[in-house]
Amino acid sequence: MIAKIFGDLKEILTLRSLQARIFIIVLVMGIIPCVVMRYGILDNYEERAVENRISSVQNQLMVVGNHLISNNYFNLKPEGFTSSVSKEVINAELEMISNLYEGRVMIIDSSLRVVRDTYGISEGKTIVSEEVIRCFQGENVSNLTNYDREHGYIEMTTPIIDSSMEPSVIVGVMLTSISNDAIVNTMEAVNRRGVILQNLIVVVVMALAMTLSVLLTRPFNRVTEAIREVKEGYSDESISVTDYAETVHIVDAFNQLLKRMRDLDVSRQEFVENVSHELKTPMAAIKVLADSLLVQQDAPVELYQEFLGDITSEIDRENRIITDLLALVKMDKKAQELNIVSLNVNDLTELILKRLRPIARKKDVEVVFESMRPVTAEVDEVKMTLIMTNLVENAIKYNKDHGWVKVELDADHQYFTFRVSDSGVGIPEDALAHIYDRFYRVDKSHSREIGGTGLGLAITKSAVLVHRGTITVTSKEGQGSSFSVRIPLFYTGS
Ligand code: ADP
Repeated sequence: MIAKIFGDLKEILTLRSLQARIFIIVLVMGIIPCVVMRYGILDNYEERAVENRISSVQNQLMVVGNHLISNNYFNLKPEGFTSSVSKEVINAELEMISNLYEGRVMIIDSSLRVVRDTYGISEGKTIVSEEVIRCFQGENVSNLTNYDREHGYIEMTTPIIDSSMEPSVIVGVMLTSISNDAIVNTMEAVNRRGVILQNLIVVVVMALAMTLSVLLTRPFNRVTEAIREVKEGYSDESISVTDYAETVHIVDAFNQLLKRMRDLDVSRQEFVENVSHELKTPMAAIKVLADSLLVQQDAPVELYQEFLGDITSEIDRENRIITDLLALVKMDKKAQELNIVSLNVNDLTELILKRLRPIARKKDVEVVFESMRPVTAEVDEVKMTLIMTNLVENAIKYNKDHGWVKVELDADHQYFTFRVSDSGVGIPEDALAHIYDRFYRVDKSHSREIGGTGLGLAITKSAVLVHRGTITVTSKEGQGSSFSVRIPLFYTGS
């Protein structure tokens, strides 16, 4: 339990869990826009507030500038000296601006001398400022405005233009710096509210992310749970989770696997039953023979010899079945290594036919070999021998007396074909699909008589498949059969 919790936690921390990923994605998608919006709104507000403040100060300064000109503040025109009363009025106006915007206004004349400072500290001094000089040179006002956010002030340089002259002349400059405290205060208030709202959204988004991550991954948990039920053996029914196309695909694949496992289980059971049955038959015969000898007192030696001969042939049969079973089991082991060699298939065929001809002779069956070309292939010699021997042996076994067996060998640039045709009893159409099944025999008693175990073609097919080849058959009952094996000339691994 603890290990599972740690496992789950590790999955969540390393983001391997889908639930954790959904949670983070929803969280990030919910929170990022919220944070961006907060900073965006603040920035936008600041920009606009500064612009507004600058333009309203500029307006007021323009008015004052006009007053300065109309009242001949700089005493430029000898005909109209400024009265001390109007000077007072203008100073009061400047004072008002500087109080209203918590700033300082300086009036500078064309000789760069400060004629008025609302702070009263620089009057009479000469000011050497780049902005002032540029302003006298006629540079645009907007270029001469500075917003120093760090130190909290806005500085602007405004020309005082005498437009009564032709052309109009810049007679002085107003150097103004105002505080941005009011803007900062408002921004702080807005920010405070923004933070509260943002935290609220974070909580809501977190709850939403948590709920979504649980809800969206629930079908996958159902799949896991259903698979676990099958694994534990509580159920062997097909499962169904139809919430998503993805779960349907997973579940479909699992159900197919389950069906395959069930089929395998059934075929294994059948196989075990068949094996037991096949092994029991000779045993039962042996027991009957031995029992009948036992119950007969003074049985003649000839009877003993006859029965013991029968017992020996039953033991031989039992032996054959066990040998074939072992061959089949070996073939089934996937991990087994194939011993691939480059083999002259013509020579191998000749050798096998030489071995089998004596059996054929007993039934007076003629065996002919037709080779279209010399064939050399990369195959496992033992398995290739099994394939060829089984097919030719069957063709002889299931033949009529005085019949024939034809073995053909051909190849193209990729495959070689080994075909065994016979003039034998043939295979009924409905049996064709089963002849590769273990222990399948068309005619059980006849097959047993001639020493068949029903495993030969199963072994042959497995041996062909490990070579990545194919085996096909055509047959007509009463007329004969033709088995054709096609195997790649070059082994590419299985
Ligand atoms: P068996 O050991 O009985 O020969 P096989 O697996 O080799 O088992 O063959 C399965 C069955 O297929 C045989 O019992 C037989 O009825 C049928 N069969 C195989 N080869 C031939 C053939 N060449 N002609 C007719 N029937 C065949």
